[in-house]
Amino acid sequence: MNASPLQGLARPEVAPLPPYNAGLSSDVVRARYGVSEISRLASNENPFGASPAVAQALVGLAQQVNNYPDAACTALRTEIAGRCGAEAGQIVIGCGSEDILQMLCLALLSPGDRVLTQRPGFGLHEIFPRMMGAEVEALALTPALEFDLDAWCEALARGPKIAMIANPSNPVGCMFDAAAFQRLLAATPAGTLLVLDEAYYEYARLAPGFPDALAALRDQQRPWIVLRTFSKAWGLAGLRVGYGIASDAALVQLLDRVRTPFNVNQAAQAAALAAWGDEPFMAHAVRETVRYRDTLVAQLHALALPGMRIAPSAANFLFIDLGRPNGPVNEALLARGIIAKPWKEPGFETFIRVSIGTPADNERFLRALREIVEATP
Ligand SMILES: *Cc1c(COP(=O)(O)O)cnc(C)c1O
Repeated sequence: MNASPLQGLARPEVAPLPPYNAGLSSDVVRARYGVSEISRLASNENPFGASPAVAQALVGLAQQVNNYPDAACTALRTEIAGRCGAEAGQIVIGCGSEDILQMLCLALLSPGDRVLTQRPGFGLHEIFPRMMGAEVEALALTPALEFDLDAWCEALARGPKIAMIANPSNPVGCMFDAAAFQRLLAATPAGTLLVLDEAYYEYARLAPGFPDALAALRDQQRPWIVLRTFSKAWGLAGLRVGYGIASDAALVQLLDRVRTPFNVNQAAQAAALAAWGDEPFMAHAVRETVRYRDTLVAQLHALALPGMRIAPSAANFLFIDLGRPNGPVNEALLARGIIAKPWKEPGFETFIRVSIGTPADNERFLRALREIVEATP
């Protein structure tokens, strides 16, 4: 079809949006590279999977797929509110936390509004604001691959409409501590909505100094929302459930205006409730993953590959500067059945992000990386 009539129909913001880089599927890699065994290390999924209680909760659901789900996610919101010390009215549930990011942008942003975030960062922190015609300011990291707190405080003081802050950061894994969070809060005008994306909260809270953001925000007279997800630590990425804890029920009501009414399906609600009820399963997976991560960091350092750097990580992944273009290394990893995420943004074409997998996955990655670098020094 001729593209020109379409160009007249689409909003001017839409065509220039970059596609979200969702990576290659296991089946595509199997077919394209002729490998049977795959290590999925590109999407920060949890190799421990979900609690067995989730499988139990899904049994029998086929008998009720003719009914719409609860549009208000009542049971899940009540359970989450109880454990987070909030009211159910302050909880919003999304089809993944990305759904909530989109609701926030739909409800709040008009063309020309300013949004503050970090680059490299989570793609949707930029894509959704730009979809609404907002202007995105993206702050750089420090040379040590940490949050540039001075730059953040300065930019926050200029009063963006929304500040999208992921702590820990994705793809970098770096975090800011409780004292730094107080500085950021003090720098932020009351008219800015703070969106604190804690997708890796369950991992990061094991790191010394990680802020109890909910406790710090509770007394603040300002709008805020903390986003968390069932996709990572809770092992439910395939079912798409995320949640937000908002400063005020009024913010949740605004989001209710723009979300699709039945956004979270029956299976997703049932699975999330069941997973939430088995916190020990999640906690075990998280503790093991953090242990594997620290082992992998030590092993990578021991390889002493020339030019390699590893960013500090409080999450279930590592952001690694290979000291050489990431494309050929990534191809060689794929040929061995290892799916990682090579970074494509300018200035980061030597980096890959690799999720912490099972010990077997991690060893495979380590061995492959050593072989690849030794083959082409
Ligand atoms: C994975 C991730 C999310 C969202 O995941 P959902 O599956 O949509 O809940 C949000 N923010 C960051 C920073 C992430 O890494």
